[in-house]
Amino acid sequence: MLYAGIAWQAGGYRLALAGPDGRDVPEPADYASHRVDELVARLRGLGDRTTVVVESTNGTLDGRLMAAGLAVHRADPALLPDRPLFGSVAAEELARAGLRGARGLVRLERHRGTQTGREDELAAWIAESAPADRELAGEGRLFSHAGRDRRRIALTFDDGPQPPYTGQVLDILERYGVPATFFCCGIHVGGRADILARMREQGHAIGNHTWSHPFLPELSRPQAAEQIDRTAEAIAEAGGGGPPRLFRPPYGARTPAVLASLAESDVVSVLWDVAPDDWALRESGDIARDVLAAARPGSVVLLHDGGGDRAPTVASLPPIIEGLTERGYEFVRVDDMLDRDGSGPVSAP
Ligand code: ZN
Repeated sequence: MLYAGIAWQAGGYRLALAGPDGRDVPEPADYASHRVDELVARLRGLGDRTTVVVESTNGTLDGRLMAAGLAVHRADPALLPDRPLFGSVAAEELARAGLRGARGLVRLERHRGTQTGREDELAAWIAESAPADRELAGEGRLFSHAGRDRRRIALTFDDGPQPPYTGQVLDILERYGVPATFFCCGIHVGGRADILARMREQGHAIGNHTWSHPFLPELSRPQAAEQIDRTAEAIAEAGGGGPPRLFRPPYGARTPAVLASLAESDVVSVLWDVAPDDWALRESGDIARDVLAAARPGSVVLLHDGGGDRAPTVASLPPIIEGLTERGYEFVRVDDMLDRDGSGPVSAP
């Protein structure tokens, strides 16, 4: 068995290998964030007896690796040294954590994602956050949908930009003349200024979805702030606009402490009320059917243009847009939904 630890740092990913028989393994190799395909090819070339080890701040990479058929495991903090202020635990440490404590690793499942095995913990934290949710929502700083009195709907796309899917999504939105909101990860923005420019040219909103898609409850306040601030800078630099005001926490994961730190920043946190779980590699027809069944006036629909094979999401868009248009919905950007709502009702989940 070979353990392949993958770390992230500002510019991309590092791969380090460790094997139980002490044989020499190559030096760690670096892959720029837009070269994930090469990283995937390298991992596939290592053979079936390779266990990939990531940690929970690496939240969109595992989807791409699993979509490529690789076995991916998550190492949790108890198995690892502390993280730096910005970046994951080192790749060598992740590979060694696999070697040392394979028992403590969590095998990720394609339909459960990065937080496999943590669903109850996540649900409990979100439940515990309800009072803080309401407080922030009351200040207009957090919402999951707009007022139910107007047939407006916001399509949102998370985890990109990721070619070719983001461009395909933009093609479809352009064809139908539909505005949307893209919550981008900073690590994916590098080298993709052209895609962000196209989003702005087509009139879409761009929001902040952290740098590396971490599980925010696990980060210290300075670590979380670094994730958000660096992403805001990267988006502003890439697109020529100002830093985004809209923010979406990965997985919607929050605790009262996370919400307290968001309250101190100037972002508006955007959750959702329609989630067809398109990230879980579902069929396009099922994604479209679920959106059409759940959409209500004021809904915010969570879809993904990055983090794996998003072909089904792309294919689901024409029936979603046509179906909602037939029902009299107008598509709006999330920020327009907020601004036009004035002092109208906005709601926490
Ligand atoms: Zn996400």
